[in-house]
Amino acid sequence: PIGRTLMVHVVPFSEDMRLLMSEDITQGERLEAMRRDFVANVSHEMRTPLTVVSGFLETVIDGLDDLGKEDIRHYLGLASEQAGRMQRLIQDLLTLSALETGAPMQLEEPVDVVQLLEEVQQEAEVVSAGRHVIELDCASDARLLGNAKELYSAFANLAINAVRYTPTGGHIRIGWRQRGSVVEYSVADDGIGIAPEHIPRLTERFYRVDRGRSRETGGTGLGLAIVKHVVSRHQGDLLIDSQPGQGSRFTACFPARRLVS
Ligand code: ADP
Repeated sequence: PIGRTLMVHVVPFSEDMRLLMSEDITQGERLEAMRRDFVANVSHEMRTPLTVVSGFLETVIDGLDDLGKEDIRHYLGLASEQAGRMQRLIQDLLTLSALETGAPMQLEEPVDVVQLLEEVQQEAEVVSAGRHVIELDCASDARLLGNAKELYSAFANLAINAVRYTPTGGHIRIGWRQRGSVVEYSVADDGIGIAPEHIPRLTERFYRVDRGRSRETGGTGLGLAIVKHVVSRHQGDLLIDSQPGQGSRFTACFPARRLVS
């Protein structure tokens, strides 16, 4: 096809035999570029909090004789926050890499989604700290065949994003319902919303609309990449509807044949 270059390597195999190996270098180069991007991104994401940690620790070391106990507590607290960020990043990277190996799900069982969503709501309430109204609307009590840990992580990720990208006073609605041959989990918020040009790229690793805001709220930039993997491992699709300034709705749709009564 046009736009592709076939590179042929002649590889010695034995005294009288040569192997011909061909490589589609456009594809190869693309993968290599993606790998380089990923390594650069990870390094950058790690370096930022590490610089901050070193900075605060140096401040404390240099000021040991002059700083009061409260100041020291303050600087160490800030350093510890950044260390927490690095931990979350590494945890998300490990989760994503485990999902990307494409290994089959460890354990498939009927998952009580209603109970799971009550826990998701509680976790979102903790992150919101009373700044939002968070409702849970379960119109189905059917259980979904899948991995409870993976589903929890995906569902909680979407609910916590809704909290993080919705200003104080906003509303968040978490829902679980069946519509014919599809069963869907949805999180709707009336937060900052997303411009249409960003929507197709949101599930890429480290893609963020606003880097500063994502950092401020403790994001790793890997959440939606993890969500997308988990949903597709459960034969589902992730749909994103959003209007800047109006809010967003993330819906994970699963085939109803995965329901267990
Ligand atoms: P992050 O850790 O940056 O939140 P995610 O992968 O979870 O990473 O999300 C990617 C980006 O998608 C975010 O940086 C943010 O710009 C956007 N986003 C995700 N959820 C929402 C939402 N509910 N409202 C507005 N923007 C969102």
